[in-house]
Amino acid sequence: MNQEQIEALKKLRAPFEPHQISKLPKPTKAQTDEIKADYKKGIRCDLCGTWHHPKVVHLDYVGHAALTDRLLDVDPCWNWEPMVFDEVGFPRLDAFGGMWIKLTICGMTRIGYGDAEGKTGPSATKERIGDALRNAAMRFGAALDLWHKGDLHPESDEPKGAAPEARTQEQESNTNGWDLDAQDEFVLSLDRAYQAFKQAGQLDKYDDFAKKWTANKANDPAEKVLTALAAFVVKLEAAALKKTA
Ligand SMILES: [Zn+2]
Repeated sequence: MNQEQIEALKKLRAPFEPHQISKLPKPTKAQTDEIKADYKKGIRCDLCGTWHHPKVVHLDYVGHAALTDRLLDVDPCWNWEPMVFDEVGFPRLDAFGGMWIKLTICGMTRIGYGDAEGKTGPSATKERIGDALRNAAMRFGAALDLWHKGDLHPESDEPKGAAPEARTQEQESNTNGWDLDAQDEFVLSLDRAYQAFKQAGQLDKYDDFAKKWTANKANDPAEKVLTALAAFVVKLEAAALKKTA
């Protein structure tokens, strides 16, 4: 990487203009239920333009278009690709419906993760992509100041924490101190396991397997999980070889 590329990457950290920042209402479940029961308790919000409870908290976020604009400014040749593909060639989602991606800007690649919070259908796919791009771009410093307040799922009315601050702490504990390399290795191990299950004709077992290890990832340190997972994958691959031999 040359100095010019490094300088270009620094531009990703520049603050976004106010007009590039959108407001996302994050009502609590109680607030949503209250409005559902009696819509007159809501207001037409001046900030975000939607109808919601007057005390709803808003998160600042950079939308897909503004982010894409920034990426193009910094590197017209920026690109992203899914980390894992299925047998047909589509992006393969993890057990939670999330997608890992590689985002490449100025020749540097960093991984990111996006999900659509349980939604399905084409709009969920688009939300997953936007979420993954924001997450990966955040690793380059884009909109980092906004991101610390909480993650974003437009139209979701079920925040997991009481307040954005609580949410951020929850997310940090979910990553459990895993650095990006460790997360990368985890995904690659799961992919090797997937291939082994497939080779052995036991693909039906993969989902439970992935759920179990993803739970381990949330609870245990990287070194412990990755060592155990690697040992397990070696066994899986040996068993798959025997089956097909
Ligand atoms: Zn609003």
